[in-house]
Amino acid sequence: MRAARATPRRIQPAQRLDRFMQRANARYYASRDPFREFTTGPEVSQAFGEILGLWAATVWESIGRPDPVLLVELGPGRGTLMQDALRAAAEVAPAFRAALRLHLVETSPRLRGIQEKLLRGAEWHDDWAELPDGPMLLIANEFLDALPIRQFVHRESGWTERFVQGSRFVERPAAAPPREAPLDAIVEVCEPALALAGGLAARFAQGRRNHAPGAALFLDYGPAASAPGDSLQALSNGRPADPLAEPGTADLSAHVDFQAVAATARARGANVFGPVPQGLFLTRLGLFQRLDRLARGRSPAQAALLLAGGRRLVEPDGMGQLFKVLALASPHTAPLPGFTP
Ligand code: SAH
Repeated sequence: MRAARATPRRIQPAQRLDRFMQRANARYYASRDPFREFTTGPEVSQAFGEILGLWAATVWESIGRPDPVLLVELGPGRGTLMQDALRAAAEVAPAFRAALRLHLVETSPRLRGIQEKLLRGAEWHDDWAELPDGPMLLIANEFLDALPIRQFVHRESGWTERFVQGSRFVERPAAAPPREAPLDAIVEVCEPALALAGGLAARFAQGRRNHAPGAALFLDYGPAASAPGDSLQALSNGRPADPLAEPGTADLSAHVDFQAVAATARARGANVFGPVPQGLFLTRLGLFQRLDRLARGRSPAQAALLLAGGRRLVEPDGMGQLFKVLALASPHTAPLPGFTP
């Protein structure tokens, strides 16, 4: 009889939460269709992407109609938003459509494959830092919420940071994060979002090397002002799940800290607009006029469906209030459409 070998207990190394989230989401987006878990603005209504396409055309006019101009989308998902935006631009602003060069930032090879079928002639990048120089208009819907966060906890003994070990959190002593919080409260910091905000601001800010005019529009969910609390959430098969249980099988996201993103961009010299609630933003840009036009000549049932989609985007108990819109732009740009009454 063979002696049972004592199996040494495998001690899993603890991973910082942001590294865990990065890996889990990379696996998730590479293997699954995130749109089974949640639906996004462009998937709810074609008017969403169309309105954003017209927004981009209007901003292009206001920055002096640069030709060529980069039209960039971060995390285009199924490509729906951009397809709708390009159709509306071609219809209403053909000069803008002709001037734009499409650049998409997407890490998932699976989603890139889907985008390639819809958005011919685009260039793809793994990282926004690879985008070429030049005037630029950028749109990112539900992109920032997928970027990895760090979580710090204010303990009596000092600050700690949350790490993931196995399928549970452990805490390690850490330096104080950039924001205060009450005892035992969590402060979340999304470093890649802040790096992006700072990088875009530097591109847009005058007096910097390679600066060029531009604007970036972020639509995402989160509070308008920084707030302590754990906002990490996991969706698996359409239901809330334990974020740590089975990495790669759930979509992980967190609230976007719009105040921190805005402050970082401002500090690097950008003009910042918002955040404003998505409902207000889309209504000001004429969402319902657009829906009325789309409904003309359709059956009453189709028209009702169009209107229901639009309502979901703007109603407070739909995506109208929790979702916010924030824009960064070159200094001295005129107020961007949707941010003033
Ligand atoms: N904007 C789309 C999809 C949102 S889902 C919509 O509104 O429907 C998030 C998207 O961001 C996916 O396309 C995902 O693959 C992509 N993504 C997530 N993290 C990324 C990263 N670090 N770099 C580039 N793309 C990323």
